[in-house]
Amino acid sequence: MVSANHYDVIIIGTGAGGGTLAYRLAPSGKRILLLERGDYVPREKDNWSTRAVNLEARYNTKESWYDKDGKALHPHTNYYVGGNTKFYGAALFRLRKEDFGELRHHGGVSPAWPISYDELEPYYLEAERLYQVHGTRDEDPTEPRASGPYPYPAVSHEPRIQQLSDDFEQAGLKPFHVPMGVMLDEKNPRKSRCIRCSTCDGHPCLVLAKSDAQVVCVDPALEHPNVELLTGAYVSRLETSASGREITKVIVEHDGKTEEFSAGIVVSSCGAINSAALLLRSANDYHPRGLANGSDVVGRHYMGHVNSVLMAISKCPNPTVFQKTLAVNDYYFGSNDWEYPMGHISFVGKLDADTLRAGAPAIAPGWTLELMATHSLDFWLTSEDLPDANNRVTLNRNGEIVLSYTPNNLEGHKRLQAKLKQAMKQQNCSIHGHECHQGLFSRSLYLGQKIPLAGVAHQNGTIRFGRDPETSALDPNCKAHEVDNLYVVDASFFPSSGAVNPALTIMANALRVGDHLLERLAARSIEVRVEPKVTA
Ligand SMILES: Cc1cc2nc3c(=O)[nH]c(=O)nc-3n(C[C@H](O)[C@H](O)[C@H](O)COP(=O)(O)OP(=O)(O)OC[C@H]3O[C@@H](n4cnc5c(N)ncnc54)[C@H](O)[C@@H]3O)c2cc1C
Ligand code: SF4
Repeated sequence: MVSANHYDVIIIGTGAGGGTLAYRLAPSGKRILLLERGDYVPREKDNWSTRAVNLEARYNTKESWYDKDGKALHPHTNYYVGGNTKFYGAALFRLRKEDFGELRHHGGVSPAWPISYDELEPYYLEAERLYQVHGTRDEDPTEPRASGPYPYPAVSHEPRIQQLSDDFEQAGLKPFHVPMGVMLDEKNPRKSRCIRCSTCDGHPCLVLAKSDAQVVCVDPALEHPNVELLTGAYVSRLETSASGREITKVIVEHDGKTEEFSAGIVVSSCGAINSAALLLRSANDYHPRGLANGSDVVGRHYMGHVNSVLMAISKCPNPTVFQKTLAVNDYYFGSNDWEYPMGHISFVGKLDADTLRAGAPAIAPGWTLELMATHSLDFWLTSEDLPDANNRVTLNRNGEIVLSYTPNNLEGHKRLQAKLKQAMKQQNCSIHGHECHQGLFSRSLYLGQKIPLAGVAHQNGTIRFGRDPETSALDPNCKAHEVDNLYVVDASFFPSSGAVNPALTIMANALRVGDHLLERLAARSIEVRVEPKVTA
């Protein structure tokens, strides 16, 4: 008899990867269980309070992790249904075509992926439709080929950002509209679900108008009677059969009790740090270094991007409400005077004084935090960090997460900052001319955090996929080389990180892996259906 705790598929984690996969598999009729350590984000006014979110870190996990020197850090990460997409800025970029090949950087080589851009392209298109991305093709000079248009028009610039866009264009740059996953209907503001507010990036959406994995994927998946969700369900360990080739038990801490589940297919999608930690915690006699870790890569090659927030202070105020609409990729692969990639320039949500208080930037002479916040353009710069085997997730004696990280490939980022500085100096407003721009001020501390390493928003790379089991833990379908029924679909699979935000790539890949699983599950049900006929 099949146990009530046995499923066709168990998905651990409901974020960009797990939530999207659940959506893909739900119509199959297979019994699917989602295990999520968090609960739903409570809907309350604090969702949109910068004080509660940034200063008091109301929704962050209260867990402590440790750095390589054993110093505690409080990670800026969130455990809820929908994962970190509940809090993300919803800038949904494709990686560049070139990011799938080997790219030479100043700091070393960014390795190739085992799949090409063209293989992922149809899934990017599908993910853009699913997550209702608003964008414009053919503006971004590094944009890869797309087989269809964005499903919705780009989110328009507010006047200050439009002015910046015009100035950048005059300076020879090609600024473009950021592809955004918000349910905004600018033509029909009265009916638009999104109200275009200032508390989007980093905040949950009180009116459920952000295209996050809960709203777009998990909730619709749960409308299928074959899909169940258990919240407050922390997966502590995966156990295998005696051969080590198959996961036989998923051990869950739930309501103060330990429960056991099993499934034909088990998918880990806990985020790159927690999935690696889960596999390491699940070491056994057959997998002494951690589950599926014969290659010793599990936990290694942690990447999180080289990021900085730079506030450009102008004499003119910046009354923009929804700031995250403009980006610049002119320096993504280099420039005339620098042959290596530098990265991507875009925006964070508009910073206010409460948010600044949480991170205490260097104050511009003669300015208060309040004044800085009303006059700043708040840029978000991203450069690629390279997969260093020593940048890794391990567990300490108490089973807690240790994140060892030494930044690399920094020169390109410095040059990207210099390029922005140069471009800002060319600003020419009608009132103050070139004197308008007062300088760039580094807000080097990640939003709301005092320890830069705690800024793990873009975590990826810890369970890389590849063709060679000696150098990767997952095969190109994101199945563990060493375990026949284990898959990983969060950001762990990235062999390199590119320099744009990762979520759309995680979503597109989850759809791709979903199609592979549907084939595998269909094959299995045919086997089961055919068997009795053969024996009769
Ligand atoms: C403030 C912020 C802004 C961001 N802005 C952007 C943006 O604009 N664009 C973009 O592309 N990306 C952005 N990101 C990054 C993006 O949110 C992540 O890349 C993405 O959510 C990662 O998806 P994932 O599936 O790997 O993990 P997650 O979305 O983190 O999902 C992991 C899930 O697993 C659960 N879980 C963890 N461990 C366990 C366990 N042991 N048992 C059970 N459940 C477990 C977690 O609770 C969580 O629900 C942002 C992130 C943050 C924090
Ligand atoms: S209303 Fe729109 S802008 Fe505001 S949080 Fe929701 S999705 Fe973001």
